[in-house]
Amino acid sequence: MTTNRKVLMLPGDGIGPEVMHEVSRVIKWMNDNCGTAFDIQEGLCGGAAYDAHGTSLTNETLTEAMASDAILFGSVGGPKWDNVPREERPEAGLLRLRKEMDLFANLRPATVLDALADASTLKKEVVSGLDIMIVRELTAGVYFGEPRGTDTLPDGTRRGFDTEVYTQTEIERVARVSFELARKRSNKVHSVEKANVMESGVFWREVITALHAAEYSDVDLLHMYADNCAMQLVRNPKQFDVIVTNNLFGDVLSDCAAMLTGSLGMLPSASLGAPGPNGQRKALYEPVHGSAPDIAGQRLANPSAMVLSYAMMLRYSFDMCEEAELVEQAVQNVLASGLRTADIKQERTAPVSTDVIGDALLSELSKLTG
Ligand code: NAD
Repeated sequence: MTTNRKVLMLPGDGIGPEVMHEVSRVIKWMNDNCGTAFDIQEGLCGGAAYDAHGTSLTNETLTEAMASDAILFGSVGGPKWDNVPREERPEAGLLRLRKEMDLFANLRPATVLDALADASTLKKEVVSGLDIMIVRELTAGVYFGEPRGTDTLPDGTRRGFDTEVYTQTEIERVARVSFELARKRSNKVHSVEKANVMESGVFWREVITALHAAEYSDVDLLHMYADNCAMQLVRNPKQFDVIVTNNLFGDVLSDCAAMLTGSLGMLPSASLGAPGPNGQRKALYEPVHGSAPDIAGQRLANPSAMVLSYAMMLRYSFDMCEEAELVEQAVQNVLASGLRTADIKQERTAPVSTDVIGDALLSELSKLTG
């Protein structure tokens, strides 16, 4: 099939191929029944690529990734590759992809589906109906800033240091993604930093405030310190719509928000780059979870996070919002029917396998479109 919707699938390691298999079935079903017409290529990344080619990402796969409209990524890593050279570790393949594609905006939705409101460790009334989008800057900040390292002080004791650094451009581009997302949601952005104690935080606030005034004054903008944000996420998470923050705070806050929702097996993500000449952004979609070596090969993995990552691809790379909602509704209906993998199973019900969830998803898609 020739289309302009080229998608590269990189299933990776562990449960990656198992959950990706269920997405392949959903894509085939939608190609056959909804005219989505995706042209899917498959490649190796992570440990699987290392075993086949001695590197976690070949130049050929990278070239294919750069030429694709979107990437669907499973997960990489596992104890099998613990002793391979650091630069060829499975995770290095994913980091190289993110870097080469300059995927600077990491979108992590924290959504509590009705059927799972009881799975959160917080009270049901605090989380039911929750729908937050955390936008984490992914390619700059303290994880990349120079200088970094360790040295020895004149008195002979040692010190370790990293540098938090953001340019105006780096802040503006991630803020733009956030304001534009908010316009399609509840029109509210919380910008999170530590302007009370960090110079880079003062600068972050200045840049966001100026951009808001110049281009996005129709969106509600609020500023919040990162420590307060962590507290508010647990106290009253429904006050948030879109949260935009730097790499370090985003790392911590998105994991905190993730646990409001109950299970790793339910959480999708997207990483977006700058728009190309046709307006389309480079993009990679992946579940938040890893390769789960403890359950790999046992058909125990919950494929929902991977399937919901595909739904994010439909929405953010191809503007196919109706199709995205269809997939999300099918996931909700399967959960509501009581079918659960072990990670989210309810008391007194037996867990089902990955492929049973896949079968149920296809059957829900048929019902919803029938
Ligand atoms: P993990 O997310 O793989 O697993 C954590 C726990 O959650 C495990 O008990 C696992 O069984 C469970 N779990 C995860 N996903 C699940 C799913 N879909 N269904 C049911 N249960 C699920 O994290 P980890 O154990 O810390 O890491 C395992 C490997 O994955 C490591 O090699 C790590 O480096 C790698 N990893 C990769 C990525 C990525 O590819 N982006 C992300 C995180 C971890």
